[in-house]
Amino acid sequence: MKIACPKCAYEPRPHDRWQCECMTLWNTFDTQGRCPGCGKVWRHTACPRCGRWSPHHEWYHDLPPIDLEEAESATEIPAKG
Ligand SMILES: [Zn+2]
Ligand SMILES: [Zn+2]
Repeated sequence: MKIACPKCAYEPRPHDRWQCECMTLWNTFDTQGRCPGCGKVWRHTACPRCGRWSPHHEWYHDLPPIDLEEAESATEIPAKG
Protein backbone atom coordinates (compact mmCIF):
# COMPACT_ATOMS: atom_id res chain seq x y z
CA MET A 1 0.00 0.00 0.00
CA LYS A 2 1.50 3.31 -1.09
CA ILE A 3 0.63 6.23 1.18
CA ALA A 4 1.49 9.77 0.10
CA CYS A 5 0.18 13.32 0.46
CA PRO A 6 -2.18 14.10 -2.46
CA LYS A 7 -0.89 17.69 -2.45
CA CYS A 8 2.91 17.32 -2.25
CA ALA A 9 3.52 13.53 -2.48
CA TYR A 10 5.17 13.41 0.96
CA GLU A 11 5.25 9.82 2.21
CA PRO A 12 4.53 9.61 5.95
CA ARG A 13 7.21 7.97 8.07
CA PRO A 14 6.53 5.53 10.93
CA HIS A 15 7.75 8.15 13.41
CA ASP A 16 5.38 10.86 12.15
CA ARG A 17 2.76 11.87 14.71
CA TRP A 18 -0.59 13.62 14.47
CA GLN A 19 -2.29 15.30 17.39
CA CYS A 20 -5.97 14.92 18.17
CA GLU A 21 -8.06 17.59 19.86
CA CYS A 22 -7.92 15.30 22.94
CA MET A 23 -4.10 15.76 22.91
CA THR A 24 -3.37 12.15 21.92
CA LEU A 25 -0.31 11.80 19.69
CA TRP A 26 -0.24 8.85 17.29
CA ASN A 27 0.46 7.85 13.70
CA THR A 28 -2.88 8.34 11.99
CA PHE A 29 -2.03 5.84 9.25
CA ASP A 30 -1.74 3.07 11.82
CA THR A 31 -5.45 3.43 12.53
CA GLN A 32 -6.90 4.80 9.26
CA GLY A 33 -7.43 8.16 10.92
CA ARG A 34 -9.02 6.95 14.15
CA CYS A 35 -7.73 8.51 17.35
CA PRO A 36 -6.76 5.75 19.83
CA GLY A 37 -7.40 8.13 22.71
CA CYS A 38 -11.01 9.23 22.19
CA GLY A 39 -12.11 7.24 19.13
CA LYS A 40 -12.69 10.25 16.91
CA VAL A 41 -12.31 9.41 13.22
CA TRP A 42 -10.44 12.10 11.32
CA ARG A 43 -11.79 12.09 7.76
CA HIS A 44 -9.22 14.69 6.75
CA THR A 45 -5.51 14.43 7.45
CA ALA A 46 -2.99 17.27 7.55
CA CYS A 47 0.36 16.72 5.87
CA PRO A 48 3.41 16.99 8.17
CA ARG A 49 5.42 18.57 5.35
CA CYS A 50 3.12 20.97 3.46
CA GLY A 51 0.55 21.38 6.24
CA ARG A 52 -2.42 21.07 3.87
CA TRP A 53 -5.49 18.96 4.66
CA SER A 54 -6.66 16.16 2.39
CA PRO A 55 -9.39 13.52 2.69
CA HIS A 56 -7.82 10.57 4.47
CA HIS A 57 -8.66 8.08 1.70
CA GLU A 58 -6.87 10.24 -0.89
CA TRP A 59 -3.57 9.46 0.86
CA TYR A 60 -3.92 5.81 -0.21
CA HIS A 61 -2.79 5.34 -3.77
CA ASP A 62 -3.09 1.59 -4.29
CA LEU A 63 -6.79 1.15 -3.61
CA PRO A 64 -8.48 -1.08 -6.17
CA PRO A 65 -10.69 0.85 -8.61
CA ILE A 66 -14.35 0.95 -7.71
CA ASP A 67 -16.57 -1.12 -9.97
CA LEU A 68 -19.20 1.48 -10.84
CA GLU A 69 -21.51 -0.90 -12.69
CA GLU A 70 -21.62 -3.25 -9.73
CA ALA A 71 -22.23 -0.36 -7.33
CA GLU A 72 -25.10 0.96 -9.45
CA SER A 73 -26.82 -2.39 -9.88
CA ALA A 74 -26.60 -2.95 -6.11
CA THR A 75 -28.72 0.15 -5.47
CA GLU A 76 -31.18 -0.49 -8.30
CA ILE A 77 -34.81 -0.48 -7.20
CA PRO A 78 -36.67 -3.54 -8.47
CA ALA A 79 -39.47 -2.64 -10.86
CA LYS A 80 -42.97 -3.59 -9.88
CA GLY A 81 -44.61 -6.03 -12.21
ZN1 LIG B 1 1.89 17.45 1.71
ZN1 LIG C 1 -8.71 11.97 20.35
